[in-house]
Amino acid sequence: MQIADEISWRNYLADVVWNSLPVDSGKVKHQDQINFRCPICGDSKRNRSKKRGFYYISTKSYHCFNCGANMMAIPFLRKIAPDGVLYDVMKTYDGFKLASIGSKRVFTNGEESKELVPCTIVPAWGLLVESGNYESPTALTQEASDYLDSRMVGNKDCFLSITDKKGRQFILILYKYLGDCIFYQLHNYTEIFGIPKYLFPNSEELGGQEKPPFGIDSIDPSWKYIICCEGVYDALSYANGVALSGRVVTAYQKTLLAKRWPAHKIVMAFDNDLAGKTSMKKLAAENPRDLLFLDIGDVFSKFGKKDANDFAKLGESAAGLLKNRKFLESRIKSALEMNVQFQLG
Ligand SMILES: [Zn+2]
Repeated sequence: MQIADEISWRNYLADVVWNSLPVDSGKVKHQDQINFRCPICGDSKRNRSKKRGFYYISTKSYHCFNCGANMMAIPFLRKIAPDGVLYDVMKTYDGFKLASIGSKRVFTNGEESKELVPCTIVPAWGLLVESGNYESPTALTQEASDYLDSRMVGNKDCFLSITDKKGRQFILILYKYLGDCIFYQLHNYTEIFGIPKYLFPNSEELGGQEKPPFGIDSIDPSWKYIICCEGVYDALSYANGVALSGRVVTAYQKTLLAKRWPAHKIVMAFDNDLAGKTSMKKLAAENPRDLLFLDIGDVFSKFGKKDANDFAKLGESAAGLLKNRKFLESRIKSALEMNVQFQLG
């Protein structure tokens, strides 16, 4: 089924919501609203006729006045509809992608936990457009492409341009896994005042999909190290770089890396500033066995540079050094070696 416009999309979603509600939910439709017993909290326990769940057709959103649940149509459907129905919804909406892996809530011994499962449907950037705040993404504009050139980005496969409803431009950075976009990030590269430099979707909006490492598909299997940086442009500056988009490596990120590249070793390479060094120190103390570290701060400091991308912008020989595997290997240290170094200095 092809959806041509916003009205048919919202009516289609309302039909899917209606059909996904249990028959005993007491569902009724009045004009713009569908009212029913909340399937998330089970609604009032004392009064079986109370119906505090409202799905609003025009805004494609759900609110429960019992538990306070408040979300857009797709996260709501993710909670109440079977995977097959979600799959059809995602396929119907142009821009949604079927990801081959994600994280999903599961119940074990009555406790909610998360585990990796294949074939979770992750809407990725489709939700951005769905929010009503952005236009559909396009190929990179000349301006965005020039900007990426200035950051020494050679391979631009993971970048698109996106414009918000006010006409302001962003770079859309795609986090791919086995070719599918499972997460995204917006880069406010023109430095629009009042908007953070980097914008991330929250995991709830993506139906529980957590932040994966950026660049996981671009690892060279023949070099057994993966360099974990804070940011996307640093990751692209290193041989086998991935970005954690933060100063921690999450359990989910570790799991995903180990699943995709089981023979590779993880090397932490945070920024050469106080925050980056503090995080490395903490990681080294907490993970004496399973993490390695790239000890390269002195090289950056010599040129007054804060991170790998800054350093690479010095020119071809600097950029080449960060891609030189022999050089990088000579700088890889164990957590124990790092702990000693931190104590000394
Ligand atoms: Zn509820």
